[in-house]
Amino acid sequence: MVERISSFPCPIEVFSVPVPPAPIVPASAPLMDGFGRRVDYARFSVTDRCDFRCVYCMSERMTFLPRARILTLEELAALGRAFVELGVRKIRITGGEPLVRCNVLWLFQELGRLRERGLAELVLTTNGSQLERLAADLKAAGVARLNISLDSLKPERFRRITRTGELDGVLRGIRAAQAAGFQRLKLNAVILKHRNHDEVVDLVRFAIDQGLDISFIEEMPLGEIGDHDRAEMYYSSDAIRADLAKVFSLTRTTESTGGPSRYYRIPGIDSRIGFISPHSHNFCGDCNRVRVSAEGRLLLCLGQEHSVDLRHVLRAHPGDRERLKQAIIAAMAIKPLGHDFRLGGQPVILRHMNHTGG
Ligand code: SAM
Ligand code: SF4
Repeated sequence: MVERISSFPCPIEVFSVPVPPAPIVPASAPLMDGFGRRVDYARFSVTDRCDFRCVYCMSERMTFLPRARILTLEELAALGRAFVELGVRKIRITGGEPLVRCNVLWLFQELGRLRERGLAELVLTTNGSQLERLAADLKAAGVARLNISLDSLKPERFRRITRTGELDGVLRGIRAAQAAGFQRLKLNAVILKHRNHDEVVDLVRFAIDQGLDISFIEEMPLGEIGDHDRAEMYYSSDAIRADLAKVFSLTRTTESTGGPSRYYRIPGIDSRIGFISPHSHNFCGDCNRVRVSAEGRLLLCLGQEHSVDLRHVLRAHPGDRERLKQAIIAAMAIKPLGHDFRLGGQPVILRHMNHTGG
């Protein structure tokens, strides 16, 4: 179904349909959505492919996009530049697994240069499998911080959750990132009841021992995964916090890393403990971000389908950055107020997390 939104001067069709070019809005003002929220954070999924098949993210048999449908590295660099010229201060590279994309370092180097043009932070979310090889180059390219996904410290369990992953490679990747000089590395752990909920204390102890931050994430209902019933495996942030409170003394802080995590501290410990709670503590009110999918769809919300086809704009008008910027500005008008995640039943959002980028 295609919905046409015609109240805005530049008409937009939702669900991956091109925005007709109409350069009419000055591109100097910050990006603001229709609810008065400033958008200064963009996440790019640079590939839908991955060397893991995490049970909450993908189904066992995935069909990946043909190469022609994926944005080229040059297109991604052009997008980065357009967003920064529109006042975006933070870009996160994600996926799929960004570090399995061929020549992806070139993109980091190009985006790293945007720090001279107003980009405050270039950051990366990775499963860590390629960090042993790439951490030093990423640091040199100007990547400021890394989020590394780690759901279990037990090799067998890690393998079952990721289906193909090897824990040792990720631990070596974490050490390589530390050796490369990355500060405030953050672990991301998706917690599922009866899969890894009994490991939250051990994961926090590991983070403390290694001098890392850690965020616990509630599973989001994106795409058919065919592995488990998401409602049955739901383990809330409050349940995790209660488990941790039996061992650690947790104090709420107002710190923010510009994302949806709510942070806690343990007195005398440097590590921050974060909670990303799409179900139990909706974070949409302060949403400051948009995402670009691997196919170049500008997604205005992780949990809704409102989108604009930036790939079309890039390919129909190569090199026309003003037109690209106008398409991005116009898209702000359809950013929805919030997601519509429901725990029970079929997922409403059919795209998997690897297309969107977490
Ligand atoms: N491959 C990289 C990784 O795993 O870090 C980057 C992409 S991954 C989609 C980004 C983040 O999304 C990871 O921390 C992952 O655990 C999380 N994630 C994936 N599927 C999810 C889901 N259904 N609900 C909540 N988080 C999810
Ligand atoms: Fe790959 Fe990351 Fe998805 Fe796991 S969560 S399958 S590592 S993209």
